[in-house]
Amino acid sequence: AVDPAGNAGTPSRLTVLAGPTAVGKGTVSADLRARYPDVWLSVSATTRAPRPGEVDGVHYHFLSTEEFDRLDAAGELLESAVVHGRNRYGTLRGPVAERLAAGETALLEIDLQGARQVRQSMPDARFVFLAPPSFDELVRRLVGRGTEDAEERERRLATARVEMAAAPEFDHVIVNDDVRRATDELVSVMGLSPRP
Ligand code: 5GP
Repeated sequence: AVDPAGNAGTPSRLTVLAGPTAVGKGTVSADLRARYPDVWLSVSATTRAPRPGEVDGVHYHFLSTEEFDRLDAAGELLESAVVHGRNRYGTLRGPVAERLAAGETALLEIDLQGARQVRQSMPDARFVFLAPPSFDELVRRLVGRGTEDAEERERRLATARVEMAAAPEFDHVIVNDDVRRATDELVSVMGLSPRP
């Protein structure tokens, strides 16, 4: 892992986890939350439609484009981006500020464009890039999860290729070769005390 800031292991109040499509950001953050329920995971706003089983306010705040625009115009988004050329996603500023003010540990799972915006406004946050063991493995994972059609997969892989080159911008790069191992590394990078 790269650590230009030299701060691995010191407790981080705000951690930003980014990485290309299908790398396993959701799986790793769910694994972390299962062991550290006190780490607060930001619930993003999005204009995309809920997938089967997704619950409004739990997985995302599902908004209309008009509602999303209104929040953005009111300055209520810490960052926002159009992801994969389609839907808009953004982090609500209020809940993040509240959790940090309360002394809690917060985790944002967002895309590269969003991470760059947070870097501008909150440079003291810890920025972690989750990388696949190889590009071929990323292709396998994307095909394997079967949630996108061929055209959407191609679009996501084109973006992923560009995004992979941004890894050196991050404080830490974690290779997701194994979920448990990657989560352990994230735990260590966030400075959380080890737990079984
Ligand atoms: P999905 O639609 O598969 O849930 O998410 C697609 C992409 O949107 C993922 O790469 C995810 O990291 C990104 N994303 C989710 N929430 C946010 C957010 O609040 N801000 C930004 N910039 N990206 C997000």
